[in-house]
Amino acid sequence: MKIVLASHNTGKLEEFVHLFTGTNITMLPFLDYCDEGIEETGLTFIENAILKARYGCQKTGLPCIADDSGLVVPALNGAPGIYSARYAGTHGDMSANIEKLLYEMQHVPETKRQAYFQCVLVFMLNEDDPTPVIAEARWHGIITHNQSGHCGHGYDPVVFLPQKNCTVAQLSLEEKNKLSHRAQAMKILMEKLC
Ligand code: IMP
Repeated sequence: MKIVLASHNTGKLEEFVHLFTGTNITMLPFLDYCDEGIEETGLTFIENAILKARYGCQKTGLPCIADDSGLVVPALNGAPGIYSARYAGTHGDMSANIEKLLYEMQHVPETKRQAYFQCVLVFMLNEDDPTPVIAEARWHGIITHNQSGHCGHGYDPVVFLPQKNCTVAQLSLEEKNKLSHRAQAMKILMEKLC
């Protein structure tokens, strides 16, 4: 079966190609069909992932997988959540986003600094598919007071993993790709599809 990853992120495509190696699923890049993205107008990770998967199916005529992810901090009522990429206003300005997060967390005590990365993956057979396959996973950590580490992306330098005694940005990419919210959700999706 051919499945398009409805994302322009080549790193994510590589992860999916790797995951489905040895199965009867071939992952195809969305860029071969469409070079435009879609506005994420949903109010939940699931809604946004479904919007992206449906858009992918419309544009390609093929089954699609889409993902949505972000950082959830219960002490901030779930922020930055679905707005993780544009928390400080400008899409993708991660130094401003991290600065805002640390500012909002400055008076939050150690006992309330828990957070998790959330990943939702959605598979749809076609744009009218009434039963999307959904897989989701969380990766738990604690928000630090300062940034540490230079690997990874996004909020990685301020999410501390107690079991590893380091931040996500201090893990190698290989290790992150084994443990992450996305890796966990991908395994769950693969079990549902294969
Ligand atoms: P997307 O769903 O990959 O577009 O992720 C949305 C936003 O969530 C990113 O811009 C990051 O701010 C944040 N995010 C998602 N996954 C990660 C991660 O593994 N590390 C750090 N930040 C992440």
